[in-house]
Amino acid sequence: MTFAEKQKQYADILVTLGVNVQSGQELVIRCDTAAAPFARIVTAAAYTAGAREVIVHFRDDKISRMRYEYAPTDVFTSVPEWESEGMNYYAARGAAFLSIVSEDPEAFKGVDPQKLAARNVAADEAFRPYYERMDKNELQWCVAAAASPEWARKVFPDRSEESAVAALWEAIFRAVRIGGNVQEKWTEHGESLKKRCAFLNEKQFKKLRYQNGLGTDFTVGLVENHIWTGGAEQTKTGVTFFANMPTEEVFTMPHCEQAEGVLKSSLPLSYQGSVIRNFTLRFHDGKVVEYHAEEGEETLKMILEADDGSRRLGEIALVPYNSPISQSGILFLQTLFDENAACHFALGQCYPNTMRDGEKLNREDLRAIGGNYAINHVDFMVGTADLSITGINASGDETLIFENGGWAF
Ligand code: ZN
Ligand code: ZN
Repeated sequence: MTFAEKQKQYADILVTLGVNVQSGQELVIRCDTAAAPFARIVTAAAYTAGAREVIVHFRDDKISRMRYEYAPTDVFTSVPEWESEGMNYYAARGAAFLSIVSEDPEAFKGVDPQKLAARNVAADEAFRPYYERMDKNELQWCVAAAASPEWARKVFPDRSEESAVAALWEAIFRAVRIGGNVQEKWTEHGESLKKRCAFLNEKQFKKLRYQNGLGTDFTVGLVENHIWTGGAEQTKTGVTFFANMPTEEVFTMPHCEQAEGVLKSSLPLSYQGSVIRNFTLRFHDGKVVEYHAEEGEETLKMILEADDGSRRLGEIALVPYNSPISQSGILFLQTLFDENAACHFALGQCYPNTMRDGEKLNREDLRAIGGNYAINHVDFMVGTADLSITGINASGDETLIFENGGWAF
C-alpha cells in the first residue's frame, strides 16, 4: 500500500469503527493545526459515510503556549461561553466526537502549572454537559493520533524531520492494524479483548496484587459488581464505537478507598505538554500519601493536588507486555499509545460504565460505593516484563492473572 492509501484506510476506520458516524449525524473533529491535512482526509471520509455536517475545531499548540506564557492567570479561570457551547451544543444534538492528537509532548514544558491547573478547573465546569454525555455513553467518541514534525522529533530524535514523521506515521499505522482486511482484523481483536473481560467478570475478584522487580508491591480493591470492559463500546441507542484507536486494554473500576503499597512508573508520562519520568507513588487507604519523580515532579504535584479524587485511582487497566505497541519498542511519549503498551492505572475520575448500573448513579452515590470522582483522569504505566498480578476473591482464594508481564490464563 502507498502512504496515501494507508492514510485513507486509517481515516476510513476512524469514521466507520472509531466514531462510527451514522447517516445524518454530525461529527465534531478536534485537532491541532499540524494535523490539518489528515483532518481533511477524515472529513471527506465522514461525508462519504453519510455525515450531515463535519465541524472541525482547530487549536495550535504554539499559539496556546504563547497564551500560557503571556496572558495573566485570570484569563484561565473561566471558559468563555461560546467555547463551551461549541462542544455542549453538539453533544446535546447527539453528534459524534473525534479527537486527533498530534501535539509535541513537551509543548507546555516550563509553563506556570497554576495556569494549567486553573484552566483544568474551569474546563471541567464549562464542558460538564459534554463530559456527562460521554460518561453515560450517550454519544460515540474516539481519540486517535496523527504524526506531526514536533511530536516525531521527540520520538525519533536521531532522524531527519522528514524521516521521523514518516517513521511515526508507519508506527501509528501498525498500531491500528492498517493493511489488508482491516475491518476483519479489528473485529477479531475486539472479540479477543471481550473474552478476557468475560473471564474476569465471571471471577469478580475482591482485590488484585501487583509485584515486580522495579519495586512495585501494591494491592488494590475492586468495587462490587465491577465490569471489565475492552474493545468496542456501545451507546445507549446501540451504536458500537471504539473510544480509543489503538486500544489493547481491558479495564475496570478500582475501589477508591482501597489501595495499599507502592507503585513504580515503568514508562515516562506525558501530561499537558510536560514529561514526568521515573516516579513512585505510595498509597494508604486508597490515597497517595507520598510521591517522588526524578523529572517533572512539579507536574506530578499539580495532578495530585488538583483535588482529593486526583490522589485516588479511577481505572485499573491490563495490557500484556507483548502487545504490538510494546513490541514496537517505540516510546511514543503520548498516553494514547504508551497506555496501550503496558498495564496502567488512572489517577482521578472513574468510568461509571465499569460498574453495573454505575451510569445511573449520581456522583455522590457512586462515590459512596467506591467510584472515584475527580477533575483529572490521568493514565500512568506500571507494566513491566516481569510483572505478576494475582486476583484474590472474597474467600481469599488466589488466581494468577498475569505472569512475566502477560496473561496467565
Ligand atoms: Zn486506560
Ligand atoms: Zn484512562
